[in-house]
Amino acid sequence: MDIFERKKIKSLVECGKRLGEKNMSPGTSGNISIRYKNNIMITGSGTALGYLKENDIVITDFEGNIIKGRKKPSSEKHLHARIYQMRNDINAVVHCHAPYVSAFAVTHKPLSAPIISENVFYFGEIPLAEYAMPSSDELVENTAKFFDKHDAVLMANHGIIIGGKDLDDAYYKMETAEAYAQIYLCSLLTGSPVNLSKEHIEEIYELRKIMGKA
Ligand code: 13P
Ligand code: ZN
Repeated sequence: MDIFERKKIKSLVECGKRLGEKNMSPGTSGNISIRYKNNIMITGSGTALGYLKENDIVITDFEGNIIKGRKKPSSEKHLHARIYQMRNDINAVVHCHAPYVSAFAVTHKPLSAPIISENVFYFGEIPLAEYAMPSSDELVENTAKFFDKHDAVLMANHGIIIGGKDLDDAYYKMETAEAYAQIYLCSLLTGSPVNLSKEHIEEIYELRKIMGKA
């Protein structure tokens, strides 16, 4: 294995560890991947993201065939592959069953309330994809289509999937989305969350355009 390959594997192991430490990948839930040369480097199926070892990482082609590695690739490999095929600017995908965002996924509520400027800037809205069995082709169809306009999608009764320009970007977006869901829930307990005004939202959308996010 060359140094570049080892570095990439380590970046996935590290990312998994951070997700675990933040309680965003309970048990063996979730999977993460990066675009690697003309292939995909992805976590093995059934691995615990918080406790990944180097040999938990597999290299596959875009059809999900194993190119290198001893583990079976993640059961969501086709969803990751479809997102990479749709979006040249996405080089990392993080899928989690993080508790707060998943609370919205199970109540079928998209994360669309414009209550925090940072979230409006990074996500616009986080839409909700219709439920389909985890790892199914139907889940790929229901979920991937939202990536034409969004970088993060809630998966009904399941979790969330986020794309980033690199692994750090995808990870930070996951933290941001989870915090957004947590703040939103807490604000509903504290009182009534106040939406940003139309003018303020438009201002943020202008900035998104300038920064190439929309
Ligand atoms: P894998 O362990 O196969 O990646 O599956 C976990 C998961 O979250 C399925 O949606
Ligand atoms: Zn899942």
